[in-house]
Amino acid sequence: MNFLEERILKDGIVKEGNVLKVDSFLNHQMDVELFNQMGEEFKRRFKGRNINKILTIEASGIGIACVAAIHFGVPVVFAKKSKSINIDGDMYIADVESFTHKCKNQVIVSKKFIGENDHVLLIDDFLANGCALQGLISIVNQAGGTVEGIGIAIEKGFQSGGQIIRNLGYHLESLAIVDSMNAETGEIEFRKQ
Ligand code: 5GP
Repeated sequence: MNFLEERILKDGIVKEGNVLKVDSFLNHQMDVELFNQMGEEFKRRFKGRNINKILTIEASGIGIACVAAIHFGVPVVFAKKSKSINIDGDMYIADVESFTHKCKNQVIVSKKFIGENDHVLLIDDFLANGCALQGLISIVNQAGGTVEGIGIAIEKGFQSGGQIIRNLGYHLESLAIVDSMNAETGEIEFRKQ
């Protein structure tokens, strides 16, 4: 079992509706030392990949992406969630449906910050149905850049996102893959990696 799986078992809480609550260390209070270990592990798993930028999505991806970026020595761009349709032409726009909030958002990235010469590592905290990632992939594609890899902290392997993204041919690395979880007993099982 790796360091993140251990931490999920210690502090993660399984909620009804297939939600894993990890707000004591990942997406509300943040254990930056844990993020540092995650950054090191992403660097190891994407060794040799030509990555010059990290793209994530607000809000929970930002902390993880920033600490990982220190290990890669590259800048971080985050896609902003925007409800406004009043967006000028200088933005890439993608639709993203939120798994946790059950609403549709547009995410936007300024054209200034991603372009055709960028080799991008996508980072996010969770992978569930894959909507957030598909939005980020769309933004890199609109820019004519290259998705070099995708780093996820926690993949919920019983939802479809991981399989969809792998079938599209992307190099996806999830530090912990939850294969099943039970809100009544609190039990969590991980996929062997
Ligand atoms: P997807 O777009 O893959 O369906 O969902 C990914 C996004 O939903 C992540 O950015 C994350 O913020 C949120 N999310 C999905 N599942 C969970 C979960 O079980 N727990 C928490 N805390 N967030 C989740």
